[in-house]
Amino acid sequence: MRKPLIVGNWKMNKTASEAAVLIRDLRERVPASPHADVVLAPPFTALESARNALGPSSWVSLGAQDIHWEDHGAFTGEVSAPMLRDIGCHYVIVGHSERRMYFGERDEHIQKKVRAALRHGLSPILCVGESLADREAGQTESVITSQLSGSLAGLTTQDLATVTIAYEPVWAIGTGRSATTEQAVIVHRSIRLFVETGWNSDIASAIRILYGGSVTPQNIESFLVSDAIDGALVGGACLNPDSFATIINLAQIPRA
Ligand code: PEP
Repeated sequence: MRKPLIVGNWKMNKTASEAAVLIRDLRERVPASPHADVVLAPPFTALESARNALGPSSWVSLGAQDIHWEDHGAFTGEVSAPMLRDIGCHYVIVGHSERRMYFGERDEHIQKKVRAALRHGLSPILCVGESLADREAGQTESVITSQLSGSLAGLTTQDLATVTIAYEPVWAIGTGRSATTEQAVIVHRSIRLFVETGWNSDIASAIRILYGGSVTPQNIESFLVSDAIDGALVGGACLNPDSFATIINLAQIPRA
């Protein structure tokens, strides 16, 4: 049985001081999370303050929203895996559709980022998802398969053991229009099949596949009810401590 994972992607929101307040408010509402793993991904500038607000033995893990593939060097504005490890990150989001859309990230970059994360013991959360045009053209599965092959090619099963995949239909991100459970389940099953075909059935049944796109306290249960969906990548709703606490608490409920 895969343990649910709830990831909060703060995007470009919250200063370092605001991060400390948000985490305090969240911890007041959720004292522990024994049945679901939780990751917060604040902006780089708030990572240290978030780490301090979480404390040394927190039930929440820290994640970053992006990474550069080199360890150091002349890459102005970038942040590397050793830097993220040193500040306390254990996870990193890679290939978010906003990075693909606004910053020209392609699968070849994403593959290098996944490898850099793995090289330094960070667990990558790899985002894949189709645009509305792709979906309407019946291309959902082929687009996602191509993103997965481009980003994961050449990884060993051992590498894959620490990867999480987040299915995030682009048309559902920040729009208030989430996928239906049925739409998400179809894609999640095809992602699991991709992993089984490319690696093996053990890793396919162990890997966590999250849904992301307008997840709220009102709809989270409709996703978690399916054993194909192992949790959620949450954007907007994670900035409100009441909403995110409710999502985490609902993820604690044992699944049938
Ligand atoms: C996201 O940022 O990955 C996301 C899913 O955002 P939202 O929950 O706001 O749609």
